[in-house]
Amino acid sequence: SPELERVSGLIREVADFPQPGVLFRDLSPLLADAEGFRVVVEEMAAHGADADVVVGIEARGFLLGAALALRLGLGVVGVRKPGKLPAVAHRIDYALEYGTATLELPEAALRPGSRALVVDDVLATGGTVEAACALVEHAEAEVSAVSVVMELAALNGRGRLAGRKVRSLLTV
Ligand code: 5GP
Repeated sequence: SPELERVSGLIREVADFPQPGVLFRDLSPLLADAEGFRVVVEEMAAHGADADVVVGIEARGFLLGAALALRLGLGVVGVRKPGKLPAVAHRIDYALEYGTATLELPEAALRPGSRALVVDDVLATGGTVEAACALVEHAEAEVSAVSVVMELAALNGRGRLAGRKVRSLLTV
């Protein structure tokens, strides 16, 4: 659609970040654009109707997840990088393209049996989303779907998340 064409044009490509040879997609100009942000949140909301909570991944997943939760009339849970939470329900270490990372789920946030819409800005290898989904499931909640703005198809995150409902607004 012309709206998504415009959204795509607001994403900046930054060479050699965070490592030489990596082409980083920077969504900052898109999120800063009132119309672009609105379109992205509305598009994500159109496919989130069967969730009863939104789970946003630190940090850009927080920006999208909070807006999306408000739009859907839901609460929001932030899955966090280590060392930020006063009480941790569960922690997962996972492999990244470069090095390792950790995500933590806050205690007393996600109810068992709830259906979580997991949100991030970019799906790359899928390791981060996979870890977030594992945290949701460890809390005995369910992942209703995964929603991202942009999918980097060459890294096959979708393959890694096989069996999950994954929606991206833009694929490159
Ligand atoms: P993964 O490889 O686990 O899918 O991605 C790792 C994390 O880095 C995710 O939170 C993902 O959103 C972020 N990420 C990876 N590549 C890019 C990129 O090109 N742009 C942005 N904005 N985030 C990225």
